[in-house]
Amino acid sequence: MKYQPISNFIGGKFVAPRGTKAMQVISPLDGTPLSTVPISSAAELNDAVEAAKKAFPGWSKTPIKERVQVFFRYKYLLEKHMKELSELVQEENGKTYSEAVAEIEKSIELTEFACSLPQLVTGEILEVSRGVECRTEHVPLGVVASIVPFNFPSMVPNWTIPNAIALGNCMIIKPSEKVPLSCGRLAELLKEAGLPDGVFNIVHGDVEIVEAICDHPGIEAVSFVGSTKVAKIVYQRATSKYKRCLALGGAKNHLMVLPDAIPGMTAQNVAASMSGCAGQRCMAASAMVGVGNVDHIIEKICDEARKIIPGENLGAVINKESKDRIESYITQAEKDGAKILVDGRNTVVKGKENGTYVGPTVIDFVKPEMSVASEEIFGPVISIMRTNTVDEALAIENANPYGNAASVFTQNGGMARYIIDHASAGMIGVNVGVPVPREPFSFGGWNESKFGVGDITGKSSIEFWTKLKKSTTKWNAEAGINWMS
Ligand code: NAD
Repeated sequence: MKYQPISNFIGGKFVAPRGTKAMQVISPLDGTPLSTVPISSAAELNDAVEAAKKAFPGWSKTPIKERVQVFFRYKYLLEKHMKELSELVQEENGKTYSEAVAEIEKSIELTEFACSLPQLVTGEILEVSRGVECRTEHVPLGVVASIVPFNFPSMVPNWTIPNAIALGNCMIIKPSEKVPLSCGRLAELLKEAGLPDGVFNIVHGDVEIVEAICDHPGIEAVSFVGSTKVAKIVYQRATSKYKRCLALGGAKNHLMVLPDAIPGMTAQNVAASMSGCAGQRCMAASAMVGVGNVDHIIEKICDEARKIIPGENLGAVINKESKDRIESYITQAEKDGAKILVDGRNTVVKGKENGTYVGPTVIDFVKPEMSVASEEIFGPVISIMRTNTVDEALAIENANPYGNAASVFTQNGGMARYIIDHASAGMIGVNVGVPVPREPFSFGGWNESKFGVGDITGKSSIEFWTKLKKSTTKWNAEAGINWMS
């Protein structure tokens, strides 16, 4: 094993697991065994909740301007350790080095936002009747939990860590058992940045820990990012225990390409969106709808896809199970009568034979009823459908149960606005393949891509991680008597 067995991080220390249940962590790049991750028990979650509860009174009473100082230092440490953190992300997730760097850069941007929270959480105050003032304050919730997926080992944890903690909460994170290493390093950096012990805790594990998080009476709020199947389970279970929950799920993002789109730019954007992070992004383009004759653009998309070389500018998919699942979708599409224009099946990277790679894949003449048209594939695959009108394209987009992102490629501003208005997705791109809103704008989809109110990042997250206290005060004995007296 390249690294020591992984431990939970509770009360500011790495704590050896109580039990012996563990899973291997394997690098998708070349099959190297990296470490083992403990499959913790509900008792270990309880230890973390106790540590977080103990830290909460001190942390929540620390003024926010002091709390964010930790995140100014954390941001500096992320920058200082950029190379090492990027290498760790690449190793455990399988993405390319430049994609891993981009992930750490995004983690830094998320932290910058948290540093600006004192400017954003000022409450309101008004004299509502003579001598009587009403005032609001954002108050932290207490102990909160964050459950994260495998595809962004640093960025998705950092969607929640800086904001939730800077707003005064104490957190327990449950990393993906497939990529547990990066979170441990983030814990060390938070401690080095001066975060008090117990404010941030890690409990590794699988279903048992997720269920225990949903059920634990000491946890006030649960944020989840992962597949729709599990998002529904978590949302239902956590809210049935009267917790606040925001659960982000999977996606099937549609790109609508109109004949007046700039061919070269469109092709580059489509190819980059479908293949970036090996298609393992909830914002990846997974379906394209060509409106009218866009053959000249599809030809260019294929040219761009052929320039994407697995093991060079295309990373690995997370494991063999994923590779098999993605390839079986492609095979099914072929059986259903679609045409495979660029085929990424059976990809082996020389010198990395134990890596799990799928090459870029372009499938044309897909019909909306085929599985590649409607299901999340989570690989570097684009399924192209064709329609005669924009309304037909929108009908396909609207019929899909997800609603994370949708994009349009056109030079017609009116048409772009029409699509912004009629696409049923939370994040829309115009001539942008991956329309991730950058800070301070918030991130979150619609429909079955998100359960719960509000978004997970940006200003919207303030409402999720705090509760509002309203106070009404009268200090002026001279003020007249009215119905508020
Ligand atoms: P996943 O749902 O399999 O796992 C997510 C987390 O849930 C992990 O920590 C895992 O340990 C836990 N988990 C898995 N099965 C569980 C179960 N049955 N009960 C309770 N907990 C369980 O997701 P993944 O494969 O790690 O990540 C990929 C998925 O995440 C894709 O669907 C992708 O679209 C989605 N995703 C969505 C967003 C978004 O913003 N909407 C962002 C990133 C990833």
